[in-house]
Amino acid sequence: MTDHKVRQAIRCWKCKKVFTLLIDTAGEPELSLTCPFCGAKIHINLAQYPTTITTVLRKAGNSASQDITVFMLPDIIESEPPSTL
Ligand SMILES: [Zn+2]
Repeated sequence: MTDHKVRQAIRCWKCKKVFTLLIDTAGEPELSLTCPFCGAKIHINLAQYPTTITTVLRKAGNSASQDITVFMLPDIIESEPPSTL
């Protein structure tokens, strides 16, 4: 398995405090979480950020490489309230 998890700073849309979360930059673009400070529901859409292609070279006797799209995230992600559908 490839590991593209990064510890990302996220700013709560409600209380404006910043906390960090491990995010898989090659995984699901839409994340739902809860602010550890005020308990607000937080929605993040990574799809708004540009992506880059990373080529991962496999080891263990397999010379094939794999291209993975990863998100290029800012220092602090500005979060949104969850959509009110
Ligand atoms: Zn908060």
